Amino acid sequence: MRRKIAAGNWKMNGDNNLLDDLTTLTVGQNISDPEVIVCPPHTLLNKAVEKTVNSFIKIGGQDCHVEKDGAYTGDISASMIAETGAKYVIVGHSERRDGHNEDNQRVRAKVQAAWSAGLIAILCIGESAAERSSKDTLTIIGTQLHASLPDDATAVNTIVAYEPIWAIGTGKTPTLNQIKETHDMLRDELINRFGTEGMKIRLLYGGSVKATNATEIFQVENVDGALVGGASLKATDFQPIIDALAET
Ligand code: PEP
Repeated sequence: MRRKIAAGNWKMNGDNNLLDDLTTLTVGQNISDPEVIVCPPHTLLNKAVEKTVNSFIKIGGQDCHVEKDGAYTGDISASMIAETGAKYVIVGHSERRDGHNEDNQRVRAKVQAAWSAGLIAILCIGESAAERSSKDTLTIIGTQLHASLPDDATAVNTIVAYEPIWAIGTGKTPTLNQIKETHDMLRDELINRFGTEGMKIRLLYGGSVKATNATEIFQVENVDGALVGGASLKATDFQPIIDALAET
């Protein structure tokens, strides 16, 4: 059984008040309870870890540099994230791939850097609206998965998030059949490449998940949870998504 995951990506949002709100989330620790991960901006990582120390909420970063240290003004390394006590890091989010010109090779190096620091990588992949229209979705995300994920991926060090770019922050979502098609294909790819380990790697859906659509999305086979942006910014919006996952 794959434990479900609700992961929140705060992006460039959040402050001390939001951290206090975070601690009101009800999160369990059993295999039947979703694993809840919150990824605040890097400036809040230390405090987020401190504030959640007595809960089962886990903390992650939103990106890391490929190098451990050096002359990279404004960047943060995976080992720095790990030093805060955070256990996860998102890599390859489309806002990094597009806004910071990160190609699959760079994302792959970031996954490797995350693993070297002992972090679990949440690897994001997803097609643009134009790629969806030209029916290239499966080819694009298959290539991203293959090229961004190093060979020694395991269910312990990696979580994959399928996030169609056109669904992020837009209120649009793919049809349930489209989600099923992509997640089934990604599962097949993971099994072809990693054998039984590929069965165990968690596959999240991301893109405009909210309380009103969570249950139907979570019922799709091979959807092991969600990476949530906007609806993770308030405990009252995030909690129903966690609850929907627990009930699926
Ligand atoms: C995201 O940023 O990864 C995301 C899925 O955002 P939203 O839920 O706001 O679409």
